[in-house]
Amino acid sequence: MIPILRIVRDLLFPPCCVGCGKRLATSTGKDKTPYFCRDCALEWEKSLRSQCPDCFAAYSECDCQPHAMKRTGCVGLIKLAPYHTEGAHQTVSHAIHSMKRTPRSRVFLCCAEELSDRLLKSVGASQEKTPISRTVIVHLPRSLQNAKRYGFDQACELARALSRVSAYPHLHALKRVRKDLEQKKLTVKERQANLKGAFALTGDVRGCRVILVDDVVTTGVGMAEAIKVLKKGGAAEVVPVCVAVTVKKHQGAAFPKFS
Ligand SMILES: [Zn+2]
Ligand SMILES: [Zn+2]
Repeated sequence: MIPILRIVRDLLFPPCCVGCGKRLATSTGKDKTPYFCRDCALEWEKSLRSQCPDCFAAYSECDCQPHAMKRTGCVGLIKLAPYHTEGAHQTVSHAIHSMKRTPRSRVFLCCAEELSDRLLKSVGASQEKTPISRTVIVHLPRSLQNAKRYGFDQACELARALSRVSAYPHLHALKRVRKDLEQKKLTVKERQANLKGAFALTGDVRGCRVILVDDVVTTGVGMAEAIKVLKKGGAAEVVPVCVAVTVKKHQGAAFPKFS
């Protein structure tokens, strides 16, 4: 964007910190407008470096994935940070919160930019092993009731932002075919039953490498169900990507262990 236009835009719509919502000082027009205030920038960096309790690497570098996803044979889960439902890592919680509630939030581009390096590296490495001519980004569609309630789909916005920074096309290849129960209060087994047959294929993914995008992964049941549909539809490889993985208080591992 031309610097003068950025100054005008920032005066009309002052940018806010995507970590705490505080107004940021308006930009000088020379640099890119920052996503975070100083405090949140520090905490965000700390979250990205925090250690996965399963493999001890930083979340932003580890490939760990929930058991439900392992069974689908997909490439390990790419993620940025832990999402603590009870307090810790407030910057990540706020970012996730605004993703779910604010369409067009700058948080989508911020997370897409953070994810893109790791994603391009992973796709590059996989491409060397198994050359695939077409790579597409597909989002895991939000539940019908939440899409109606908030008026947008946060995974779709994240996929759009990721497409912008990575240049892979965003393909609307999945849709929800029915209403399901709210996942939050369900056990893993109940979630599996709840999401069985919840997605249908609406795009051609035959022979493609599919980058499957969601904002938060908790049990991975939704991702696993979508991966099955994509593979059944002919996807050659699925690379799952999310911003954060849910970590519950006193939980010894990032993902619930279940057989
Ligand atoms: Zn802030
Ligand atoms: Zn790990």
